[in-house]
Amino acid sequence: MHIKMNLKRIFLLIPLFFFSLGPASSQAGPIISSDFAGGNIMVVKTAGDTIWLKPDLSETDGEWFYWYFKVSNISGKQLFFQFTLDNQFTAFGPAYSINNNNTWKWYGENRVHKNGFSYAFSPEDTVAWFCTAFPYTGKDLDSFLSRLENRDRLHRDTLCLSPDNRVIEQLSIIPSGDKPGTMVLITARHHACEMMANYVMEGIIESILNEVELEYLREKVEFLIVPFMDKDGVENGEQGKNRIPRDHNRDYEGESIYQSTAALREEIPAWSDGRLKIALDLHCPWIKGEYHEWIYLVGKKDPIMEAEQIRFGELLENHATGELRFRSRDFLPYGTSWNTQGSFTKGLSFSGWAGGLDNISLATTLEFPYANILGVQVTRDNARAFGKAISYALLDYLKGLANPPYSAQNEDDVWKRDWPGAFQEISIPSSVDADYQNAMFFPASGPPPQPLIVSLHTWSGDYRQKDPLAPMILEKGWNYIHPDFRGRNNHPDACGSEKVIPDIEDAILYAKQHGNVDPDNIHVIGTSGGGYATLLMYMKTSLDIRSFSAWVPISDLVDWYWACDSRGLKYAGDILKSTGSQDSLLDIEESKRRSPYFMDTPVSRRKNSILNIYCGIHDGYTGSVPITQSINFYNKLVRDAKGNKAASVPREDALYMLSNRTFNPAETAPLILPEGRRIHYYKQFHSINLTIFEGGHELLPGAAMEELIKNTLNQ
Ligand SMILES: [Zn+2]
Repeated sequence: MHIKMNLKRIFLLIPLFFFSLGPASSQAGPIISSDFAGGNIMVVKTAGDTIWLKPDLSETDGEWFYWYFKVSNISGKQLFFQFTLDNQFTAFGPAYSINNNNTWKWYGENRVHKNGFSYAFSPEDTVAWFCTAFPYTGKDLDSFLSRLENRDRLHRDTLCLSPDNRVIEQLSIIPSGDKPGTMVLITARHHACEMMANYVMEGIIESILNEVELEYLREKVEFLIVPFMDKDGVENGEQGKNRIPRDHNRDYEGESIYQSTAALREEIPAWSDGRLKIALDLHCPWIKGEYHEWIYLVGKKDPIMEAEQIRFGELLENHATGELRFRSRDFLPYGTSWNTQGSFTKGLSFSGWAGGLDNISLATTLEFPYANILGVQVTRDNARAFGKAISYALLDYLKGLANPPYSAQNEDDVWKRDWPGAFQEISIPSSVDADYQNAMFFPASGPPPQPLIVSLHTWSGDYRQKDPLAPMILEKGWNYIHPDFRGRNNHPDACGSEKVIPDIEDAILYAKQHGNVDPDNIHVIGTSGGGYATLLMYMKTSLDIRSFSAWVPISDLVDWYWACDSRGLKYAGDILKSTGSQDSLLDIEESKRRSPYFMDTPVSRRKNSILNIYCGIHDGYTGSVPITQSINFYNKLVRDAKGNKAASVPREDALYMLSNRTFNPAETAPLILPEGRRIHYYKQFHSINLTIFEGGHELLPGAAMEELIKNTLNQ
């Protein structure tokens, strides 16, 4: 355990030149101190009315910028505060409060020159506080909670005691009725200095308890909130960020060295019991400059989580209509700026840990700048107003979850909002066991008969998952079916089991019976896990399928398991569960049995089918499925069809793309329309096509639709 005795200092500054001073009453020099909650300063030296200062960095690896001091004996003086380190001030200079420490304001733009500022105190001024931003410690939380309206739903408990024996608060908002099916966890101050996050948190709490339109959150959702993960750091006035040996937000791997992180890791899984849907960790970024003067979400490397973050960001943008704006485009993708593997070598972060919890949908860090947000000064009020916007986004997000976690009867159907009313929810008896399979279905009217699009859900989705293609197909007036085929790929019946293909075939037969289907015009399409199912269909189905479109597919579960395992992605665990692997040891034979790559290609049966494989060249870096999953599968098909070597992707091309993430120089690459993405690489063998485009782990709906239109005509 890393424990520090905090040494608070009081600095009596004796002026060197008494004769230079004014009235007798001010002959003693100013007194600088950090002897109060959150205080942090070191006096380097003093001469006359100039005081040289720097932050106390004794717990910190490298430099940081948190400082907070009190200065007294100031009446009528002009003092000059000179910092000895760079990067100690926000774009709006220091924050300050005169004669009390409640009324914080920014000193303002252009007040800092060469790492210092001066302040002329009036004769009435007796004491002043200066800080990097607006301080927030335990007493601020107490005062917030005591003035909070409608706080009977809010419970204040103890998560654990800190190393210095302080109470680490755990606040919960608990609905009055039945145990809610949804829980949300919110934390702040993993980095002690990131004080502005707490004003945002106040806004979240206050709005959940009081906003009329947020009734759903207080009636149907349980919140657990930890305002100070590093309580000692907050009270002792430490930086917290880059704390030695590792800070609280890198303490979610191996054995935790801090009590609060250990307590969360132990208690949250039991507390949530699979009901935790959102984990939100509030932070403040670096002190100023690009990325640090707008609010943003820190992108996760897991593409499914990344998609959830982007969805949440869009909702937040809709609600952040006050002084402080949030632009979803300011999202910081994994692999960009500081958000790389290199930042997490000391251990997993809170959101990294929470993202791996059972059933969680969204785990994210939100960075809220200290002072300047797109040119607007942060105040306590507008930070709280932004917290309120977060609450509204949480509401929208939870209500929009494709897989509704709440059980109340009338809210069971919230996911249906993703499906226009023309789509029917149907249930199809299974031809291989006693189960029924659900699906979303749209039957075309006729005559003449219309194409049937069989759209397959992703790895963690099921038949309810929102499908960007669905409305486009509705508009075409084609038949459409979105089957469940055993739902999410985390159990043995799903994930390429011997029940998956019959399920999809059952759905196709159902659509042919109940729709108006042109039997020569059936098309299977899917993305990611749906691309995987599309390839399975290509290898296994005995039905006549006109075209198969596999976007960013998985073809080899063995390879993918190792890729996911080494990157800590939850799919590794899903594969273990699906293949019935024991003791976390991958059952390789079973994984191969479920992998299109290891299946025999039905070459002659597919003579009249088109196969399109699409992958984004950055997938595997920014996304979860390396492009080799597509390339190797394509080459296998060429090999199995006895194609000549020139038809396959040469090893050196694959290596070049893997290491450079480009092939054609951007300016010569043709475009894939209508999204306008560049095509880096294209190979064709008979009716098998491989397209590697500029993009990540994604489906391009416009391009996919264009392809389908072409394939429906191209008979
Ligand atoms: Zn932080």
